Amino acid sequence: MRELGTLIAIDGPSASGKSSVARGVAQELGFIYVDSGALYRGVTWLALESGLDGSDEAAVMQVVDAVAWRFFVEAGAVVFSIDEVRPGEALRGKAVREAVSRFAALPRVRSFVVSRLRSHAQLGSLVIEGRDIGSAVFPDTPLKFYLDADERERAMRRHRELMAAGESEKAEEVLLSLKRRDKMDAARVHDPLRVPVGAVRIDSTSLNLKEVIEVVINRVLEC
Ligand code: C5P
Repeated sequence: MRELGTLIAIDGPSASGKSSVARGVAQELGFIYVDSGALYRGVTWLALESGLDGSDEAAVMQVVDAVAWRFFVEAGAVVFSIDEVRPGEALRGKAVREAVSRFAALPRVRSFVVSRLRSHAQLGSLVIEGRDIGSAVFPDTPLKFYLDADERERAMRRHRELMAAGESEKAEEVLLSLKRRDKMDAARVHDPLRVPVGAVRIDSTSLNLKEVIEVVINRVLEC
């Protein structure tokens, strides 16, 4: 069996900057970037397209198991197709965004995603971001980070992103939606959002992206 590469786990709540930091760290170190939330979003997109609302776990798993999931490394990141379709921007849309935490709370959906994420470790060294990477997916990695920022700051960042993507949600709505999602993610029974044991906590409220990337890389190089 091939020896596994280095695994850097970056967890944190919505809009804490995980994606940008994880991408930056991966680029700098030549590691592969993995967005675990995209897989939960993929399951949610597929289920919504099939007319499911997440109340029937068996029905969700039936559609998840009936399609072909393919994973590729493209431009330094793991991407996937579902029955040869790349869901792309639909994963970031409002319908998926509002429903994803409901689907991510289903234990069989979590097992499906966790087993796919673990198999990515065969691809090489990874920077993987999510909510339970250091606590449940790769609990043995010594390189765990928990990124956080003030709630209002996170909502403002997300609002700016949405505006740039041409969406028209009000800042207050974005804040409420972010609070709702964080609350569900932290309250769920299976692998809730929490600070993993041994994680380095970084509050990025008053740090810029470059500074956060530097904190992570310095720590990785120390280990
Ligand atoms: O990170 P992103 O916003 O794309 O994640 C979407 C949702 O997927 C989260 O709100 C959470 O419900 C779920 N998720 C999770 N565990 C992860 C990554 C994401 O439960 N490791």
